[in-house]
Amino acid sequence: MQWIDSHSHHYLTSLSTLEELHRGGLSGAVEASWIPVRPSSSSTLIDLYSWVVNQEKVRLSKIGVKPVAAIGIHPRCIPTSEVEQSLNNVEMWLQMDDVKALGEVGLESGDDTEVYVLERQLRLAMAADKPVIMHTPRIDKKNVLKKILSTVETVSFPQEMLVIDHLNSEVYDMVRGLKTYFGLSVQPGKLSVDEAFELVQKLDFERVLINSDSSTEPSQPDWPALVLNKLERSELNEIPRKIAVENPQKFYRI
Ligand SMILES: [Zn+2]
Repeated sequence: MQWIDSHSHHYLTSLSTLEELHRGGLSGAVEASWIPVRPSSSSTLIDLYSWVVNQEKVRLSKIGVKPVAAIGIHPRCIPTSEVEQSLNNVEMWLQMDDVKALGEVGLESGDDTEVYVLERQLRLAMAADKPVIMHTPRIDKKNVLKKILSTVETVSFPQEMLVIDHLNSEVYDMVRGLKTYFGLSVQPGKLSVDEAFELVQKLDFERVLINSDSSTEPSQPDWPALVLNKLERSELNEIPRKIAVENPQKFYRI
């Protein structure tokens, strides 16, 4: 079936692999800015945004995959200098029509600098009327998520414009009552196909976004498709289609 990967770093994936995924049903890919090194200045992030937004538009269109770009300062990518300049750049880039969301942003350790950068970016996304992809960490997930939710509240960011990503059963109770979207990253170390299959059925499926979070880390970019196939076989009729295409289309306004 056709599906959109709602959160990936596929700009790090070869075109051959993406072509194969496209043959398997991948029709669109949301690519969020992140790199595995801490930038030394704001210009590194500008080059990254240019790659994710401009270069990927050309590359993905070549193989018939719809490009959906998100830009922002990931908590592990807060530059060691020029933080204010970097925030000004985010403000500028969010104005572009080709930038569909702020992301990924969030907290990793939850220190004061991270909270400051997140809060500022949430305000920028609100002003630009763009949805937000929120990263939650693997370590100390519950406590860091608490801080994230309190930052969201401080800013009064609208929950329906927010996807809280990398959710698992550990934090299910903390999020199930929220009006946000629920991001499930089906990736080694985050969620297995079976775990995602279970979690989808416990959450409000109208607000579930499924993704591979493919990056330089161990990734299985076809795992979300396996979850969708499993849901289809279980005759959970409208759920797979909603999650595969309609929910990401609605959330990202694409
Ligand atoms: Zn990611």
